[in-house]
Amino acid sequence: TSQSSSIVIIGSGLAGYTLIREIRKLDKTAPITLITREPGYFYSKPMLSTALASNKEAAQLISTPSEGMATQLEVNILAETDVTAIDVATQTLQTSKGVLSYDKLVLALGADQIQLPLEGSAANEVLTVNDLEDYAKFRGAIANKKKVAILGAGLIGCEFANDLVLGGYEVDVIDLASQVLGRLLPEAAAKELQNKLSTAGVRWHFSTTAQAINRNGNVIEISLANGNSISCDVVLSAVGLKPRIDLAKAAGIKTGLGIQVNRELETSHKNIYSLGDCAEVEGLVLPYVMPIMQSARALAPTLLGQVTALSYPAMPVMVKTPALPTIVSPPAKGAQGQWKTTAIEGGIEARFEAADGKLLGFALMGTATSQRASLTKELPPILQ
Ligand code: FAD
Repeated sequence: TSQSSSIVIIGSGLAGYTLIREIRKLDKTAPITLITREPGYFYSKPMLSTALASNKEAAQLISTPSEGMATQLEVNILAETDVTAIDVATQTLQTSKGVLSYDKLVLALGADQIQLPLEGSAANEVLTVNDLEDYAKFRGAIANKKKVAILGAGLIGCEFANDLVLGGYEVDVIDLASQVLGRLLPEAAAKELQNKLSTAGVRWHFSTTAQAINRNGNVIEISLANGNSISCDVVLSAVGLKPRIDLAKAAGIKTGLGIQVNRELETSHKNIYSLGDCAEVEGLVLPYVMPIMQSARALAPTLLGQVTALSYPAMPVMVKTPALPTIVSPPAKGAQGQWKTTAIEGGIEARFEAADGKLLGFALMGTATSQRASLTKELPPILQ
């Protein structure tokens, strides 16, 4: 099969669908084709780490099925279709269902969870939750079980830990760092979150790593580098994300940490653009919702001929840990300054300040989260 369509988008995550919504605000009829490995439904990925406690099934997290998205947005959806190669010279795509040509191509491919190289007979039983199918699998794996071990005490690891203890599970969290949320939180603030999560039932194993994961009958034994061992029913890995760059790289498109794009979100190749978790904008890979919204708003007019540069304001991220609600806006990499942490009634306010007192980042916890809007206004933009 071969057909032509002016705008072709690969990926039906938040990036792909938000971009289509933004295009439709400007142009109701421009032909758009969306190709995705997934069934094409729209779901909220951030809910994957908050939905277990409330016992939500995967299907309940789908806000609109594929057919609904196709009619609502007047888009041609090629679901359960894998793009295997991009030919930049002929502007065509190889897919698992045939060849397709494009005038403008958008890569909204997302990111993979990093898989740690692990030893042991149960190394291949380690699960990750990065999309709705993973969530369904994970829910199946923990049904009627009691103990879950989580590799990684970052944002996603902490959210799952909180959600699982709320759901009645025993949870052990292992991280190489000496605290939760590595670079995002100063030590005193991290301690507070750890304490609140400990009270909720989470057990921490810091400054160590899982060396081997072995099955012993009904249980999984994790041997830690510090000599301890943990027994559990299920292991969940949340040690970080790796932008999906292989497809672009194989086509000769410039990649670094992510698929590299300029401020117009254009890759090293004409007519090929990228946004979302797979993209690297001026050295920045920001795998969060807000950067996707900003990128989609800039890219939509660009694709329609009104070239628009991306800018990023300060974009705080909420850590969805009900044990201690937390909002972080980390300082830029290499920013000069220091954390000033103040405990207030029911919360913590941590400001990262330059020598002249200028606010460069913050972490707000508990009651201090009410400062979010006013402090965000003080922050410098991430990309002006
Ligand atoms: P994805 O949603 O991963 O979409 C990628 C799409 O590309 C998929 O449809 C995939 O099938 C498709 N695809 C990839 N390769 C191919 C191919 N070769 N052929 C065809 N299709 C392909 N961010 C926040 O700001 N706040 C939060 O509270 C928050 N919570 C989170 C909780 C969890 C558990 C996780 C995992 C993430 C969270 N995030 C949060 C991050 C946020 O969800 C992501 O930044 C966002 O969903 C990424 O969207 P995306 O469209 O870039 O990628």
